[in-house]
Amino acid sequence: MVTMQVARKKSHCKVLGPGLRSVIWFHGCCRKCPGCIADTMNETAVYETICPEKLADWVSENKNIEGITLSGGEPLMQPLDELAKFLTLVKRQSDLSVLCYTGYTLEELQEDKEMKNVLLLIDVLIDGEYRQELDKGQRWRGSGNQRFHFLTPRYRNKAGEWYAANERQIEIELDMNGKLQISGVPSRDFINKLTAELQRREINVDFS
Ligand code: SF4
Repeated sequence: MVTMQVARKKSHCKVLGPGLRSVIWFHGCCRKCPGCIADTMNETAVYETICPEKLADWVSENKNIEGITLSGGEPLMQPLDELAKFLTLVKRQSDLSVLCYTGYTLEELQEDKEMKNVLLLIDVLIDGEYRQELDKGQRWRGSGNQRFHFLTPRYRNKAGEWYAANERQIEIELDMNGKLQISGVPSRDFINKLTAELQRREINVDFS
């Protein structure tokens, strides 16, 4: 049986979408965007396989969140029936918003009938592959080619504000295993400098 592969979860995050959000980083992406900050996550063999019910249960345990953010990796390379089931369960048991990152363009996704069922469950899609030369510090977006698609009315009145926002925030935390984890959309340049410094101090780091 094919199940979803999750590289990392974070119950409360303030830097990947509006409000406080639970974030799921799915494992794997077939693209090789130069400068991708998730490259270590995409290549690592360490991930959790999880069914829609268990993942929805985890979301339901996370209090005071405004929504969930699907990141990766490439969320839309996961088994689409499982992803649709997971999002259906989340929507059924809450009014949480769903924000999803993808390296595909919306136009590419709309060619796939099964994908359309998943898109119906997403409030905001941030689409397009990462292009390092267009990385100008846009909030929540890795590069300027990536677009917000307001697939439901939920945040449609925020479009102007979201496109104009030009500050990036990241969250850095040390997990119980002594591993440093970064959440957000830091630039590749920032990551390179930080990695060099941390390696000098012999500290492991996961970027997402
Ligand atoms: S689509 Fe996203 S995760 Fe995949 S390689 Fe490009 S930047 Fe990385």
